[in-house]
Formats: sequence, structure tokens, C-alpha cells
Amino acid sequence: MTKKLLLHTCCAPCVSYSIEKIKEMGYSPAIYFFNPNIHPMEEYEKRRDELIEFSKKKNYELIIDNSGFDDWLKKTEAYAQEPERGARCAVCFDIRLRQTAKFAKENGYPYFSTSLTISPHKSYKVISEIGNKLAEEFSISYVDVDFKKNDGFKKSLEISKEYNLFRQNYCGCKYSIRKS
Ligand code: SF4
Repeated sequence: MTKKLLLHTCCAPCVSYSIEKIKEMGYSPAIYFFNPNIHPMEEYEKRRDELIEFSKKKNYELIIDNSGFDDWLKKTEAYAQEPERGARCAVCFDIRLRQTAKFAKENGYPYFSTSLTISPHKSYKVISEIGNKLAEEFSISYVDVDFKKNDGFKKSLEISKEYNLFRQNYCGCKYSIRKS
């Protein structure tokens, strides 16, 4: 039986290794791009469009959700002064994974996951807790993988180089630009 999985991602470099790992694990993934945190719009479009091109080349199924910008700003503004890896990031992960879980539930994906854990700058533990909490809330399964393990991050760099993928130099939100 096909194990349909919705794989949240923020960009082509992060998904490049993660999706192959998910396939190796026996799942049938579709990529889900939902990242209202990315600022400014020019950067958002650059990351999204690079992912569209990469998915076409690799024949990956891709779903783009361009919504949620006002909601993201409203829910994170109280945490503007937080450092990266602080409380704002947990809220940001929750917003993005919540929408992923909701979409998965409404569209017949029994599993969801995220490539966010491939980043050495993000807390695997926090992402894992949020993913598992949402799985319970939406009655679906969170596939809990620390993609950076077993040289996952290094492998994503190699694939990015091979495909000449655009790699951002800050996490994504306006607060992370100021601090980078
Ligand atoms: S630093 Fe990154 S993870 Fe944290 S709130 Fe900003 S975009 Fe989200």
C-alpha cells in the first residue's frame, strides 16, 4: 500500500536530501511549501521559484501554499526581540507545521514530516515535539526524522552544488535578517 506523506519544506536545498531519505524509508512524498515567515517578498519568490524548478527537474510532486503572511506576523510580533532558536522560532515552526498537518489531514495524507530538521541552526527537539503534538491533534502520523544525521546536511550541500541551487544566507523572517 502507498504510504502517502506530505513533506513540508522551506526551500530546494533543504528538501533535496530529505525527500530522498523519506523515499528510502518507503514513503511516497509530495512536497508542501508553506512559509509565510519568509521576508521580503522578493526573497520568498526566489526560494519558492527555485523549488518549483528543482521539483520539475526531479519530477517531484509539489504543492505551493502562498497564504498566511498576516497571521504569521500577528502571532510572532510579541517575540520580535527573541534570538534565533528562541521562543519565536517555536511559534514559527508551529504555524508552518500546523498548516502542513491540517492540509495533510484534509487531503488524504496519513503521514507528514518536515525538512526543517536538516538545518544545524534549528533545534531538532523543538521541531520533534511540535510535530508529534500536531500528529495527535489531527489524528495523523508525524514521521520524526532528524535529517541532518548521517551527514544529511553535508549531502544536501553536495546536491545543491550539483544542481546549482540558490542557498539563502539567513533563516527567513525579517528578524533573522537583522541578526545575521
Ligand atoms: S529565525 Fe527562522 S525559524 Fe526563527 S522565527 Fe525567523 S524564520 Fe522562523
